[in-house]
Amino acid sequence: MRNSLYLTTLGLIIISCGSQQKTVQRKTAAGNTLPKPAVQVKKPEIKQDDGEYYRVNIADITKNDNTVSYGSIVSANPAGYKVTKTYFPSIGQNFRQRYIIIHYTALDDAKSISTLTQQSVSAHYLVNSLPDKEIYQLVDENKRAYHAGISFWRRDQQLNDTSIGVEIVNTGYKVDSTGYRIFAPYPEDQIKKVAALVKDLVTRYNIPPTNVLGHSDIAPTRKQDPGPLFPWKRLYDEYQIGMWYDETAKQTFLNQILTTNDITFQYNNPEFVFRVQQQLVQFGYATPVSSVWDKATKQTIEAFQFHFRPTNYSGIMDAETLAILQALIQKYPQK
Ligand SMILES: [Zn+2]
Repeated sequence: MRNSLYLTTLGLIIISCGSQQKTVQRKTAAGNTLPKPAVQVKKPEIKQDDGEYYRVNIADITKNDNTVSYGSIVSANPAGYKVTKTYFPSIGQNFRQRYIIIHYTALDDAKSISTLTQQSVSAHYLVNSLPDKEIYQLVDENKRAYHAGISFWRRDQQLNDTSIGVEIVNTGYKVDSTGYRIFAPYPEDQIKKVAALVKDLVTRYNIPPTNVLGHSDIAPTRKQDPGPLFPWKRLYDEYQIGMWYDETAKQTFLNQILTTNDITFQYNNPEFVFRVQQQLVQFGYATPVSSVWDKATKQTIEAFQFHFRPTNYSGIMDAETLAILQALIQKYPQK
């Protein structure tokens, strides 16, 4: 689809260039230049000039391109002129919305709404904790909400520019007397709401699995949300949302790691630490490659475990965590 559109556009450009050259060279027998004929502009075909919504698919899915135009139309209204909506034929466009970032509010329902609407923090959607059928929209999808903060994933940063923020009402965690964090569970009704909402977003914007992330994935040194009780595996299994590793690949990597005794004998070897940090970076995290188990690296490992190995989020790189990381790098390589 994209190729054919591209060729059409290219053809149009060549034709218009050729006709301009002929115009300049037109002369009379006496050598006088004839007046230029009026430039003929080929207008794009107007398929739809009204209505609030449009949809045109010029995406190349094989290139992870999400150039599907879909959404509300916001147009200029210049004084004395009319903006003609041409069904948006330009191939040189894509969506601002390329990520979905999941959060918990660490507040109850009432405080979540007041904070996200009356302070300088916001999200496009807020999923309450009630067993009703409502999801609140607080910011237009075409606009930026302030939810990600300083953030990074793969080659992208400042993800407020390119993401849709989904906040979930959840009180976060409490610390017990031993310093262990006890996270609040997500009710079943709430998970179903989140799943339906995120499914709709990833479908409309062609958001790839690698770009459905938790706040802790894109800001691991600052954030813990949505925490280890957010059911990423279930979203992957039941709704085909986000990333998850294949069990057989994980087992293969685990066997390799256990055979080479990498972790047991080399755990504090700077070269081993360097390799692990490089793999975290290769997957997408903004880990410092310092060759030591510094605080930021431990926080990144914890963020990874929250998402992909939630039964034990020690922040220590063990054999299973490393095997899962390697299985994910293999399944979701950076392009
Ligand atoms: Zn957050």
